[in-house]
Amino acid sequence: MAKHDPCRVVPGTKVRLKDFKTDDDGGLSKADGEREFAGLCERLTDLQELLYAEGKHALLIVLQAMDAGGKDSTIRNVCGAFNPQGCKVVGFKAPNDVELRHDFLWRVHENTPRLGYIGVFNRSHYEDVLVVRVKDLLPEKRWRARYEHINAFEKILHDEGTTIVKFFLHISKEYQRDRLQRRLEKRDKLWKFDPADLTERARWDDYHAAYEEALSRCSTEHAPWYIIPAERHWHRNLAVARVLVDALESLNMKFPKADFNPDEIVIP
Ligand code: AMP
Ligand code: MG
Repeated sequence: MAKHDPCRVVPGTKVRLKDFKTDDDGGLSKADGEREFAGLCERLTDLQELLYAEGKHALLIVLQAMDAGGKDSTIRNVCGAFNPQGCKVVGFKAPNDVELRHDFLWRVHENTPRLGYIGVFNRSHYEDVLVVRVKDLLPEKRWRARYEHINAFEKILHDEGTTIVKFFLHISKEYQRDRLQRRLEKRDKLWKFDPADLTERARWDDYHAAYEEALSRCSTEHAPWYIIPAERHWHRNLAVARVLVDALESLNMKFPKADFNPDEIVIP
């Protein structure tokens, strides 16, 4: 995996989100960025077929962001390159009664991708150290222990063949206002507006503090976090696609060898 990627949170470093841009264009024009992105999508399509054919690895993509950060649109744009047969997207909402009666990773583990497949988490087990912390849903002792639990869980997945990449789609508070406003103004976007988002917005700083701790403590060699400047959509898509291509290419996958000689076979 590209260790030099400026978006990658180097394990052991303390993240301050203020130091990360939200509107970076990587010094590219939109046209150049879109051209590169189209090429990367073709590569992603091929790499996924290889992942499926070889069946030795799985890929887990974790997406987190503040409301209106662009998780849905990233999934549509980037994961659109994958054959839907080999890719499962799972959205994590507030846990139901049964889920609340299990440990917080129970519903998550159940949804991790099997070998050969790609899993995409729209929100994830990180909510259990984000919303749970910010809204005081559990005593601090409970959520504090979870950073270690998460690292151990992700290590198990990694050691058993799953490549994990985690993206925080980074936007500013002003940008969020514009996007929420747009949801109110555009009648076909209104369904996405949830008045409760405003309560969350009021806790912007608390969420950022919670994100900073999660990004600092849970970016590991085996499951790195990437902080993606997410306000320019074309650049966001490009940055995510680059990481995914890198992650899949570093697996050095091969198509399985046939146990027969195709030249000797005649189809009647
Ligand atoms: P959305 O992604 O906009 O459909 O919203 C999903 C909601 O579920 C968000 O408000 C999340 O904060 C909430 N949510 C997801 N996971 C958890 C969790 N483990 N505990 C509490 N709320 C959660
Ligand atoms: Mg929402």
